[in-house]
Amino acid sequence: NRIVTPNLKSDDIEIEGSLRPKYLSDYIGQDKVKNRLKIFIDAAKMRKESLDHVLLYGPPGLGKTTLSNIIANEMGVNIKVTSGPAIERPGDLAAILTNLSENDVLFIDEIHRLSRNVEEVLYPAMEDFALDIIIGKGPSAKSVRIDLPKFTLVGATTRAGLLTSPLRDRFGVICKLDLYNIEDLKTIVIRSARILNVPISEKAAVEIAKRSRGTPRIVNRLLKRVRDYAQVVGNGEIDIDIAKKALNMLEVDNLGLDSVDRKILNTIIEKFDGGPVGLDTLAASTGEEKNTIEDVYEPYLLQLGFLKRTPRGRVLTRKAYEHMGIDFNKEDEV
Ligand code: ATP
Repeated sequence: NRIVTPNLKSDDIEIEGSLRPKYLSDYIGQDKVKNRLKIFIDAAKMRKESLDHVLLYGPPGLGKTTLSNIIANEMGVNIKVTSGPAIERPGDLAAILTNLSENDVLFIDEIHRLSRNVEEVLYPAMEDFALDIIIGKGPSAKSVRIDLPKFTLVGATTRAGLLTSPLRDRFGVICKLDLYNIEDLKTIVIRSARILNVPISEKAAVEIAKRSRGTPRIVNRLLKRVRDYAQVVGNGEIDIDIAKKALNMLEVDNLGLDSVDRKILNTIIEKFDGGPVGLDTLAASTGEEKNTIEDVYEPYLLQLGFLKRTPRGRVLTRKAYEHMGIDFNKEDEV
């Protein structure tokens, strides 16, 4: 039930569709990724070819699905959206691939969760645009090759390291999405408020941006909650006062940290004297899943400069102690 989870919640769906940018020019931030994609897309269009396969990786809620839709829009082709766990058998993938049209985009979210058998169908499909099908059984079995339309696979995952190397090697374009800075998040709040028809001051937009953990999905969710508060408690306009009151009521602190983050920080301080502590030990002592700590909590604590990764484990910094209001009296500062 965390208000600041970057994972999709059911009540996000209501607004996410209308707020999703459709072209690269509306997609805010991530300039390095945008510039690279623009060049590859323009080149593919000039040659009237399909775009090379693209792997997008980074924490949840940063806009991987949005970017894959943008790629299809910019290329002027259709997109088929699916996910690793949804493709159960090789035949499921074969059916999807044979139904694509020339140059279409196939988006596979959580691509690291494809099963081995399914992944093996993908290799010749990505490399040669072909499917190898075995017909018959026993000594009379024959392998038949079927040609597929040229297509672009866009794969999304939280960490590129989760992919097997034969799969990773078949992507021509690999892009890492980083957490957004406050300026870009502010621009997203102002854009979303305009689409939702909510008047908002610049200061209020910065306040929402600061508490959104570098994540557009959270920015939009907090904006929606603050809009409700402004409507009920105020006159519908979001100013700094209303924004602060609404966000405090949601128990998101001035840096976007909530009780789970504070539990993690407190555990490292109290049980491990600020670290170093290994990921497995931290997961066991906080009751949080190791993968969730790595994909969701840690990236933001690293961005804030609260946590450092050292060869001996995770270590908290002076900044983290200061935020928690606890004296930092360690000699070997990292
Ligand atoms: P998941 O981890 O669930 O796959 P994701 O990385 O695919 O998440 P999206 O669903 O693409 O994230 O983005 C979440 C929401 O954030 C979208 O509805 C979109 O409105 C908004 N968003 C994402 N990136 C941007 C951006 N660069 N500019 C404006 N809005 C954005």
